[in-house]
Amino acid sequence: MTKGAKKPETRLVTAGRKPEENHGIINPPVYHASTILHPTMKVLKEASQPYTYGRRLTPTIAALQDAVCDLEGGFGTVITPSGLSAVTTALLAHLKTGDHVLVTDSVYGPSRSFCEQMLTKLGIEVEFYDPLIGGGISELMKDNTRVVFTESPGSQTFEVQDIPAIAEAAHERGAIVMLDNTWATPLFFDAFEHGADISIQAATKYIVGHSDVMMGTITCNERTWKTTLRHHGLLGVTTGPDDMYLALRGLRTMGVRLKQHMETGINLARWFAARPEVKYILHPALDTDEGHPIWKRDFKGASGLFGVVLHPVSDKALAAMLDGLELFGMGFSWGGYESLIVPAEPHRTATTWREEGKLLRVHAGLENMDDLIADLEAGFDRLNKET
Ligand SMILES: *Cc1c(COP(=O)(O)O)cnc(C)c1O
Repeated sequence: MTKGAKKPETRLVTAGRKPEENHGIINPPVYHASTILHPTMKVLKEASQPYTYGRRLTPTIAALQDAVCDLEGGFGTVITPSGLSAVTTALLAHLKTGDHVLVTDSVYGPSRSFCEQMLTKLGIEVEFYDPLIGGGISELMKDNTRVVFTESPGSQTFEVQDIPAIAEAAHERGAIVMLDNTWATPLFFDAFEHGADISIQAATKYIVGHSDVMMGTITCNERTWKTTLRHHGLLGVTTGPDDMYLALRGLRTMGVRLKQHMETGINLARWFAARPEVKYILHPALDTDEGHPIWKRDFKGASGLFGVVLHPVSDKALAAMLDGLELFGMGFSWGGYESLIVPAEPHRTATTWREEGKLLRVHAGLENMDDLIADLEAGFDRLNKET
């Protein structure tokens, strides 16, 4: 499937829907299925009907796959039960014993753990690289490098990667480029236009958008599609239909939600930047950010997740601030309608995280901006009383 002529906001509304096949009903039905009956032995043997077994494909799965694929402008999409399983399925599909994989040092923590603990166990050589390496990655490419894994901006530290330069270097040596595109979504970063061969999303975040479902998507170009689809099938990866329905429902409003997350996120980041307790902000949309030039060149927007580096402060003072917040919850994941704040501790091996000061990861939810600021102001008051 290729990107249609319609704009992304329109495709969010129309993609994956076939009301004419369903009594005119707007939304696709939720098909609960394991067994799917075949009318004759011939059809069964030849698997010549579109749906053969619930794990493989149902109209509910097809609707979500088509919608995500259309939005991404990819060739094919598969759905997985979590964002992490999208990362692991894609890596397992394209790597084998004896291969070498380059992984950005700013990668999402559990993706790092999978590479370090599972891929190495399978005899795959894992090498982490500086997220800001750009075209310099060509120096790390070996004859057996099959995959370059990217994530932009990086988890927790928000480095913007030069994906076109990395892709050019990788493709020159025959490797494929995977991108964890969860932060920007295809609305704000076009993975394929910038050279990625596989675009991964933790749909748990912005597609689902309501903090109630775990899901991942793997969207491929033509080159990577067959191998990905085959291994997704081999691994038996499948997702429940009610969750898929919720993801499809979330997708329809992702455009308007993201715009608001972006606006509140940028406003909050600017507000934090002006606070005396704050050393600096990690948010690619701010022109003070070192990733801003590449973000401006390649991205169409920013989501609601960013980092705040504080001047050194005690654990006790920080706890006084965070424990008492009313609107900002402390918890993992993000991309839902509610604001979140968590202390972050980047783990690095190829580079060193430069900061001694505490790092906070903030997710701007859909609450009113003034209420959010009042909550944070009271939080900083508590922090300052403890210091
Ligand atoms: C959350 C997240 C994942 C994993 O998604 P889950 O659905 O929690 O498994 C992967 N990559 C990034 C960048 C994430 O933020």
